[in-house]
Amino acid sequence: MVWPILLVVLSLVTYCQPVWAEGEQHSLLSDVSYFHEDPNSPLSLQQVRQRFQSGQVQYPKQNFLSLGISEQATWIRLEVQNTTGEPQFQRLNAAQPWVDHLSVYLMNDSGLLKEWHSGDSLVADSHLLAGVGFVFDMTIPPGESDILIRGQSLDPLTLPIALLDSYQSRTLDSQIHVTSGIVYGVLLALVGFNLVLYSSLKQLDALLYSIYISCFIIVNLSYNGYGFAWFYPNSLFIANHLTLIFMIFHGVSGLVFVSNFLEIRTRTPKLHLGLNIYNALGIIAMVVLISFQQHLLATALAFRFLSLTTVIMILLGIWNLGKTKDAWYFLGAVVCSMLGLLITTLSVWGMLPYNYYSYNGAVFGVVFEAIILAVIVAYRLKAVEQKRATAEYLAAYDPLTNLFNRRSLMSAGTKLIHFADQSKKPLSFVMMDIDHFKVVNDTYGHQVGDQALIHIANLLRSNTRATDTLSRWGGEEMVILLPNTNASQALAYTEHLRLTIAQTPLIHEGQEIEITASFGIATRKKSETLDELYQRADKQLYLAKRQGRNRVEPAFEK
Ligand code: GH3
Ligand code: MG
Ligand code: MG
Repeated sequence: MVWPILLVVLSLVTYCQPVWAEGEQHSLLSDVSYFHEDPNSPLSLQQVRQRFQSGQVQYPKQNFLSLGISEQATWIRLEVQNTTGEPQFQRLNAAQPWVDHLSVYLMNDSGLLKEWHSGDSLVADSHLLAGVGFVFDMTIPPGESDILIRGQSLDPLTLPIALLDSYQSRTLDSQIHVTSGIVYGVLLALVGFNLVLYSSLKQLDALLYSIYISCFIIVNLSYNGYGFAWFYPNSLFIANHLTLIFMIFHGVSGLVFVSNFLEIRTRTPKLHLGLNIYNALGIIAMVVLISFQQHLLATALAFRFLSLTTVIMILLGIWNLGKTKDAWYFLGAVVCSMLGLLITTLSVWGMLPYNYYSYNGAVFGVVFEAIILAVIVAYRLKAVEQKRATAEYLAAYDPLTNLFNRRSLMSAGTKLIHFADQSKKPLSFVMMDIDHFKVVNDTYGHQVGDQALIHIANLLRSNTRATDTLSRWGGEEMVILLPNTNASQALAYTEHLRLTIAQTPLIHEGQEIEITASFGIATRKKSETLDELYQRADKQLYLAKRQGRNRVEPAFEK
């Protein structure tokens, strides 16, 4: 079940990448340059143009600008050349959904043609395309023009600059949405599956795991813009803080899940306490920074906390290798997700090259992890189910002879009494006890005694009808309930059993051990209870013993 899903995810990853990159290859873009604005002296558009023309600028080494976390605004100039002689429709993918302030200016030699302002410091507008980011539709006139972009954010400033024609943008969008649909589909299915497991089996692992994945889904929906565009377009506070808060919760819920999964609380209580303190500090620090509106510090905290947490989780996985049964699978799963998250975090932070794979590392990692963990949870469930089946068996059967135990006989007997009452049919109770069984134990040992019990149980089993109920009453006593059987039929049947046992010795190491048994029979009188029936059969068994053993004693009607 795992491999087909992994294959689908992998092929989507490889399928989407070329178009993501294609945007730049065929675009009208001829050059990209940028510089950081001095926070103390904001520039006019004229000054910005002069600065770009002066050449005191930087040139990005790749198609994405990932400028890390900084308060500074950055100006970017895209030089565009439209050699077709016709105005061309283009869509600028200017920034990720979390960028606070975004201004875009389209200009050429005749001056400013058009300007746009957006960003998540304003309520969500038509420029925010969920799953894609801030996009701006524009018509590029023939000849040379400039697109100037001013981006500023207290979150990592990531600007995946791409100028796409309408076909390219539609293709990219549909690929992104299909991938998102699959990713959220898999993750939501796993959340649901684990919640059902928790509600039906009370497996805490499953609940904690679904909380952990839910936090990831919220972080992901929030930083991909789905949340802002669809769920809270008018709430700037949520738009600006949800990702950061849930980055902390994702880390915390991950550690709580791991603690429980690896049984850290019971095995190493001090470490468990340490992890709890670490988690509490993370949450408190985030609450304090948000309360004091220290957004820049809060962002730095969220990224550092999550990176450190990933490292802790991997270390816990390594440290527990061999200590718990599923530790290898667990480590594999956590490494997938944590490496993915680390790659996304570092690429958004500006520490790793930013591209389709690195940006989506967390998503692909979590999908792999979720699938592996779902398989582990399923295996654990199988073990729980096996335990339950074993417990059920032990509650109903005698493990040595595989016969019903006394408890099962009593419940079967109650039903047979009820049936006998309704059908007015006879019911006979046969009680058997092996003769001088103590001697078998004393002469050959307890293990041979056990074999003798199995031997007798097998003989009885192969000589009873499907409707008869056979059980080990205790020790070397066995009981057979015979429905639809009157006194004389019971006597004939039991006599046959006695003879069969007496004539079928137990073979032990080539030696024949002769075993006999004594029997008492009671056939049910009108409205007699199971207990009364048993008392009478037991009395007859005692009589059979007293009269020399290897005998059948039926109770006669008085
Ligand atoms: P009697 O003919 O009067 O029934 O004599 P007996 O020796 O069969 O009866 P007694 O009640 O004195 O001894 C029964 C023995 O059965 C004693 C006990 O250790 C043995 N026994 C009970 N359950 C098991 C068992 O599961 N395995 C073995 N090997 N022995 C058992
Ligand atoms: Mg006995
Ligand atoms: Mg006995």
